[in-house]
Order: sequence, then C-alpha cells, then structure tokens
Amino acid sequence: MTRICVPVCVSRLSELADAVRAAANVADVIELRLDYLTEVDLSHAGEAIANVLKAVDQQIILTLRPAEYGGARAISAQDRLHFRLQNSGYLKSDRNDLWDLELDLALLLQKRAGEGNDVVGTNLCDWDRTICSYHDFVGVPADLEKIYESMAQTESRILKLAVQADDALDCLSIFQLLDRAQHEGREMIAIAMGQAGVMTRILGPSRGSFLTYGSVDDESATAPGQLTACELRDVYRIDNIDRQTQITGLIGRPVAHSISPHIHNAALAKANFNAVFIPLEVQDVNAFIKRMVRPSSREIDWELRGLSVTAPHKSAVIGGLNWIDAAAREIGAVNTIVVEGDELHGYNTDAIGFITPLKQRQQSLAGLRCAVIGAGGAARAVVWALKAEGAIATVFARDEAKAEMLAQQFGVAYKPLSNATFRDADVVINATPLGTRGKAEHETPATREQLGEVRLAYDLVYNPFETRFLSDARAAGCETIAGLEMLMAQAVEQFKLWTGKHPNVEVMRAAAKRRLGMN
Ligand code: NAP
Repeated sequence: MTRICVPVCVSRLSELADAVRAAANVADVIELRLDYLTEVDLSHAGEAIANVLKAVDQQIILTLRPAEYGGARAISAQDRLHFRLQNSGYLKSDRNDLWDLELDLALLLQKRAGEGNDVVGTNLCDWDRTICSYHDFVGVPADLEKIYESMAQTESRILKLAVQADDALDCLSIFQLLDRAQHEGREMIAIAMGQAGVMTRILGPSRGSFLTYGSVDDESATAPGQLTACELRDVYRIDNIDRQTQITGLIGRPVAHSISPHIHNAALAKANFNAVFIPLEVQDVNAFIKRMVRPSSREIDWELRGLSVTAPHKSAVIGGLNWIDAAAREIGAVNTIVVEGDELHGYNTDAIGFITPLKQRQQSLAGLRCAVIGAGGAARAVVWALKAEGAIATVFARDEAKAEMLAQQFGVAYKPLSNATFRDADVVINATPLGTRGKAEHETPATREQLGEVRLAYDLVYNPFETRFLSDARAAGCETIAGLEMLMAQAVEQFKLWTGKHPNVEVMRAAAKRRLGMN
C-alpha cells in the first residue's frame, strides 16, 4: 500500500483546523508539525489540538522538531520529552497514530529505559508508536550506514532518514538503505530531499518506504523537492508503481522546469503501460551512466527502459553509449537513450521533432531559405534537419566565432545577428532561449520590423506557449509554429523508441497545455 503523508505547518491555532482539513482531502497520513505552531503556547494548547485531530480519520504523526534538526522552534531535549509525556493523549490507537522522535532522544530514552529509569511504563517508551528520525539538510552523511545502525538499536517501530541530494547518484544510498531495512525486517522511511532526490519520493514506496511525503500545493511544500500529493498520484501514478514498473526519465541539470514528465506520464497512463517517467537531476553524467544506467555496472536493481537527455549532457553522454544512430552522430548530440539488453543506444529526436511540424505545413522543404538564430545544441539539430531536407540554412548568432564553427561543420552560411534583416529568409527560427518564461521573457531575437518579409516564424521556446517572437511575427503577417509542436513531435519519437507503440498525441498535448497553464 502506498501512503502519502502531508505535513501541516501553520503558526496559529486558528489556522489549524482548515489546514488539517485541506491535508485530509489528499493525504493518507497527516504529519502535524507542532514546532511550526510558533504563535502557540504548546503547554496549554493540548486540548485544542486534540479536538482538531479528532475530526479526521487519517493516521497522524506528531512532530516537534527542534531548530537544530531543521525544525521551526528552539526547544531543549528535556522540553521535547516533557511535551511528549504531557501530550500523548492526542494520539488515537484506532488510527495507529505515531510520534516522530529524533535519534538523539530515542537513544536517550532507550538508555534510561535500559537502566530501569523513570521513563519505564510511561508513554515515552511506547516504541510501537515511535518513528526514530534523522535529518541531514546539507548532504549525504558519509556514515549513513552507522546512523542507520544506531537507529536500528532503538526499539522504534519505524526508522526515518532524510538527507539532502545534490546529484541523482545520492539517491543510491537511500535505495540501498531501504533494501537493507527490508532485508532486516525493519519498517523505514527514506527520502533524499532536493530536486536531485525527487526519484526517492516517487519510487520510495515501491522499494519499501513506509510512506512518502507530499504537499497540499506547491506553496505549502515543507522540504526542497517535495511534490504535491496530487502530482504523486495523478502525474506519477505512485499507487501503481511496483518493482516491475519500467523506469524512464529526463537527465539534465536543471530539470525542475521541464514539462516532459507531464507529457510522457500522461501518454504512458493512457496506453496503460506499467511505466513511469521521472525527472533526474544529474551532475556527472558519466558516473550516472556507469552507476545507475549501464546494466553491467549499475548499483541499483531497477527496470530502466530509457532516458531523455537535456542540457548540459547531450554531447557528454555520447562516450558512455554502445551505439549511436547516424543522425545523432552527425549532429553530435544524443537526446534519447534506450536500454537494449546490456547495451545503451543513443538517438536524437530533436531533429525529427523540429522538422515534422514544418513538413506538415510545406510538403517539400527543398530550396526553402531558413535563418537559424542561435549556435547551440538545438541549432545543430535544426541545421542538420534542414540540410537533410534540402533547405538552405544560414546561421545567425551573437557570437560570430560559434556561428562560423557550426556553419563550417554543416557546410552552410553564417551571418552576425547584430545587424540581421532577414529580408532574404522564407523562414526564421529562434533556437536561442530568448523569450523563455522567467528569463528574458519579454525579449525577442527578431522584431516585428525584421520579420516583415518573412513567411513563417518558428520558435523553439515552448514556455510560454506564446512568446514575444511569435506575437511579433504574427503582427508582421507571418505564419507561426510554436515550440510546443517540436516538443510534442520529439516526445512522440521518444515514446516510440521506449515502448514500440505510438502514443496518444492529444493526451500528451492536453497534459502539456495543463502544465503550461493554458486550459
Ligand atoms: P544552448 O546550447 O545553450 O544554445 C543557446 C544559443 O542561444 C547559443 O547560441 C547562445 O549564444 C544563444 N543565446 C543565448 N542567449 C542569447 C541572447 N540573449 N541573444 C542572442 N543569442 C543568445 O541551448 P539549446 O539547447 O540550443 O536550446 C536553445 C533553446 O531551444 C532553449 O530555449 C531550449 O529550451 C529550446 N529547445 C526547445 C526544444 C523543443 O522541443 N521545443 C528542443 C530543444 C531546445 P552564446 O553561445 O553566445 O551564449
């Protein structure tokens, strides 16, 4: 059974009932973070809190996290113990409610109980209701196994470890601990926080984690990388993930902005595949390929089917693959990996993704004069695809040396961007990030005046759907192609490579539009 725990973190008693109700709408388990009730005198609030909790059926976890372990209150160990002693009455046995107790306190109690001390017989020693927890908000401690062993020394029913991941590889030790706990018959919650740890939140329950954490909405997330409970259920279909689930995902840095998980998971769900697509923030792509991807050397037992690759790894990943298709080799970039038996195969679906929407508008591209703005990775795929169709490409870039290098490699012309007029172009293509939401959103590589004699403007930027480049182009009388069309077309090819089936494109498009806020 997959449990999603939603933490409730409010500072006033007056906010508590609504927050608990909102959590109850999406949670299997509710964690009440008592330390966040900073406007409340906890020693007198017991009854009021208990009354709020009475109203819900979900299992409750009570947590009074001190500041030194990432909590919102400065509170001594003695006061934490005293509080638990006084307030265990909130817990209901028919709900299997639990206390979260940090490792230092659990060890202290265990010691005092061992000495036949005052705590014996009190609810402080109610180990069946105790989660023994350890948090590291900086990284993955080198002595993780030792910490686990200290936790396992206590009689706590559940052990919880949360560490900070900077690289998807940091998740390996979390998965290995979950395996160990299962092997040793201990219930465990193990999470890697941060964007690089997202896979532990999605795959953890299928690998033995007692629960995973989710928020009510993006604003109320309590830890970096935390997804909403609805995303976990509706986008990642966490209830359906098991050890047979085929894993696909996006490797890059950053990946949090990507809408690919929404597009691919919607298509996988529609096709009823036992498969999931997860964002994987990867720093060192070669180490990642070796330790998590290549079947002969990976340190994780999972059904990895394939990966989508984004910046900055599209070129660097090539050296780690067994076979590269001709287009990807000539472009010098792989954006799709397929695990075939023991081998890793590389493809580039950006080129076909780019050219497909253009060919849907114009049967033959032979002789079409195309101005490609930008000289980065995407421009390479664009120029390669245009050449393959017999179009005449000219590269325009702010860095003339880069434009020249790209142009020479593919045997096309180049010009500086600074004084471009685009008067000789039938099509102008934006292969720069100019216009992207959040950065340079109101900028454009070509103005309405510059586009006056152009027939078609094609933007690779897909977020926002309507960029300034596209609205200027329309105002200048151009036909337009939005970046989302390329994104969809290249995703269709990826889906086919991983599953051998054609995806439902309308479902993919609807998911993309939802994510881009275009309902
Ligand atoms: P990249 O490798 O970083 O290349 C970006 C290019 O844009 C470089 O030539 C860069 O010039 C240029 N550039 C950046 N800022 C500029 C500015 N202010 N003025 C003029 N030129 C500027 O990135 P990429 O991978 O090629 O991606 C480019 C864009 O295409 C991104 O927005 C990406 O999201 C989008 N894309 C979309 C799809 C899709 O499916 N729709 C697929 C792939 C890429 P310098 O080298 O001088 O910095």
